[in-house]
Amino acid sequence: PDKAPIFKRILLKLSGEALMGDQGYGICPDVLTRVAREVGELSSKGVEVAIVIGGGNIFRGAGMAQGGMDRVTADHMGMLATVMNGLAIQDALERLGKFCRVMSALKINQVCEDYIRRRAVRHLEKGRIVVFAAGTGNPFFTTDTAASLRAIEMNADVMIKATKVDGVYDSDPKLNANAQRFERLTYDDVLNRRLEVMDTTAIVMCRDNHMPLRVINIFREGELMRLVTGESVGTLIER
Ligand code: UDP
Repeated sequence: PDKAPIFKRILLKLSGEALMGDQGYGICPDVLTRVAREVGELSSKGVEVAIVIGGGNIFRGAGMAQGGMDRVTADHMGMLATVMNGLAIQDALERLGKFCRVMSALKINQVCEDYIRRRAVRHLEKGRIVVFAAGTGNPFFTTDTAASLRAIEMNADVMIKATKVDGVYDSDPKLNANAQRFERLTYDDVLNRRLEVMDTTAIVMCRDNHMPLRVINIFREGELMRLVTGESVGTLIER
């Protein structure tokens, strides 16, 4: 039962949808609290937790650009959406008595801290949960790429992508009942087979910098803790 964590520092990528629950939009308070509790438990076990939060539950730049909006403006709005989600996570963690700092790649420092690498590392060393918001701070990128970048910058032991499915499949398990889940893959497998794990930029960043990735289901309660205490859950992707 009380197993020790196998990772010292993790980077958790939460998509905006991870906070949305069954709603079609926005943040579901119950889901937010549950995710915060699970993250808080990792931190209580002594794991240093950094989070990159997405914004797709509120706003996606590419979608708006298709409707005619200038892509850069739409992406600025998308990045601001991730800041809103970040503030919600910070609030939920603080209500549970955890210490947390939101750090934004865009400067909005009356709302949260600016991202400064050394400061982020210091927060982690002090046991604070750090939420990285505003992606990379640049349009045309994704929060998956931001997660790869921050995982590498923070020297995380592993990047964990928390999704709606319990790993990477050879075809969509919602459409194909015979879809097979992979236990492990290499980054080149993902690229060659065009498996939809993350965008190519994010995959290549991880591959070239030897950052292992675990894809797990955030809607399965306890999955994060099982992974961090050494169980082989989801799909492992390595170089
Ligand atoms: N975004 C951006 N640059 C980044 C990260 C994100 O412009 O480095 C914008 C982009 O418009 C994106 C939105 O923020 O659609 C929300 O991020 P994402 O779609 O990655 O969120 P998720 O799918 O993880 O919820």
